[in-house]
Amino acid sequence: MDDYREDRIALPESWHSVTEVVVRRTSVYYHLGFPRPLRDLDGRYHRDERGRVALEAFLGLPFEAMFDRLETYRRSLIGGNVEDDPARYRDAFRELVSFVETFGPFGFDWGRTHQVLNLEADRLAKENWQLSLAAAGIDATGAPPSVGTPIWRLVFPELGQPFLGQVDQVMTYPELAWDERVRLGDPRIPHDDVGMREAGPLAFVRRDLLATVRIADAVARRDRFDLRDLIRTFPRARVFDVRDYPTRSALALDWRTANLGMSPVDGMFRPFEVHEAQVDWVALGRGIVVEQISLQLLRTSIGVGLAGVVPALAWRIGSLVEVIYLQLYEHIRQHPDFGIGACDFCGAPILRVRRQQRWHSGCAPAGRQRESRAARKARSAVEPDA
Ligand SMILES: [Zn+2]
Repeated sequence: MDDYREDRIALPESWHSVTEVVVRRTSVYYHLGFPRPLRDLDGRYHRDERGRVALEAFLGLPFEAMFDRLETYRRSLIGGNVEDDPARYRDAFRELVSFVETFGPFGFDWGRTHQVLNLEADRLAKENWQLSLAAAGIDATGAPPSVGTPIWRLVFPELGQPFLGQVDQVMTYPELAWDERVRLGDPRIPHDDVGMREAGPLAFVRRDLLATVRIADAVARRDRFDLRDLIRTFPRARVFDVRDYPTRSALALDWRTANLGMSPVDGMFRPFEVHEAQVDWVALGRGIVVEQISLQLLRTSIGVGLAGVVPALAWRIGSLVEVIYLQLYEHIRQHPDFGIGACDFCGAPILRVRRQQRWHSGCAPAGRQRESRAARKARSAVEPDA
């Protein structure tokens, strides 16, 4: 482990904490607290009461049950002349609320949304307003009146989406109280739109992460058959560039290691169009996991700040999803053969730190108790006198 001395590398610094969470429909609004270091003083990632890191706890969220509760509540609203009740939405997403209270907000699209100036559009709006009033014989000065403060923002597309970034105008209410701004859906209040069961940031992040974790586990087990099935359904084009060019970066992936057959004429390796024995499925799976982690970290950045008067280099995290992928990176680097299991008690994944690890540290006492109860019951069933 000598090459993993933390004092030699720029560690990712911190992620936000939350002091208050309000759920309105499928939007989760946060009152942010102080940013918190990702790790404790022993270098261990922050954990929940079951001893689970964010990746484990996230995939352990009862996704279907939460959306079932949401749909039940929404159906109860149909036809009734009642206002939405944030308490009921919060109840539907209660495990998710507890998750963000423990690990911080998701920040799904925070890294791709930026406030920008659009002076020309502001000038034209003001001029138009003054001209239309002047036509009615009224001499107006200043900008058109507005209930809130209009601001412009630039939103970059999600990774892998073909759309262009766009600039739009949103209304913010900096002079109002936090609760009131949440009620009005003020976009300047930090929030996440989790979306619906089938589509939206939560569903997509979960789908991609599950697919990546499954491949990482199959790589650890060297299971070619599982890998072949998992790679077939992984959300990525099944074409790999194996042209022979000089390596541009130490981080560039060399997909040629996955091709055991002839070099394809067009330089594109299509593992599902050649005989399966001509594919190194473990190498291909390992490359896909690493590529996915790298893509998820694209929006992080390195910066220099001041710690008191000392310049300090650190790595700015853009969302909790990045933290989760960092945890996967660390797992496959430190325990490449241990794989990812499922906890016998809570059912969430375990990034195994021992072979055959069956429970999260916080689940182990309850898991053992349940097991010995079951064993006693089995014994008493075969020994009627017991
Ligand atoms: Zn557990």
